Amino acid sequence: MTKYTCKACGVQQSSSHSVPTICPICEDDRQNVPETGQEWLILAEHYNKHETKWTKIEPNLHSLPTSFKCGIGQDAYLIQTQNGNYLWDCVPLISDQWVDKIQAMGGLKAIVISHPHFYSNAACWSATFGNIPIYIHHADKHWVQDMSDNILFWQGDTLNLEDDLTIINCGGHFDGSCVLHWRGATDGKGILFGADTVYSVNNQATFMHSFPNVIPLPAHKVKTIDQRLENFNFERLYGPFGGHILANAQTIVQHCINRYINALNR
Ligand SMILES: [Zn+2]
Ligand SMILES: [Zn+2]
Repeated sequence: MTKYTCKACGVQQSSSHSVPTICPICEDDRQNVPETGQEWLILAEHYNKHETKWTKIEPNLHSLPTSFKCGIGQDAYLIQTQNGNYLWDCVPLISDQWVDKIQAMGGLKAIVISHPHFYSNAACWSATFGNIPIYIHHADKHWVQDMSDNILFWQGDTLNLEDDLTIINCGGHFDGSCVLHWRGATDGKGILFGADTVYSVNNQATFMHSFPNVIPLPAHKVKTIDQRLENFNFERLYGPFGGHILANAQTIVQHCINRYINALNR
């Protein structure tokens, strides 16, 4: 039995005797099957064979970029809180360099996943760090391809991981799409990790059903995102592909929400 990973979206499948025929994540209208067809990788064959970097972004916050060409190229973030370290989203690679560095920082307490495009090989990351929980919103349970006992399907609009670290289910991109709010960051001004839900681009934010197929979200779903963020203050917005907003992010996101809804109502 082998775990195959879709090269296009980087999502690992559960163990199988043969190469899968389709990737449900890529077949969905939010993603797309490459013109050349679906390709599959065995991630274990790639561990320690690609450059894995480590970038300190600001105090207690790091990104884990890699040159490995698998998936859509998102960044994962390592967040250091007083009570332990969290991985926000995931990348389809593990390296001894990353594992050693994280273990030296006290290991990982949990993995928090925003939505199905970033499921990656989270089950392997969890096992590597002692079967830590993987938080995925219950509304997206049917999208999980590599089911693991370590996945904790949470329900509701918000979940406090720590006093100052909260997962918020905003919906939109997927019904279970989440953002992560870290109130204690940036001298207490707060950070929002928007993933594909509050998507940072050109130091602004936008909201899409599908990015590669350029299908916008309906206005009522953006209004729900606005409502779910109502009680959370943040100075910065970090995204999975850059374009971060590093100051006045809350005001700018609010402007972008209003602009988006007004554009659809024209
Ligand atoms: Zn795929
Ligand atoms: Zn996505």
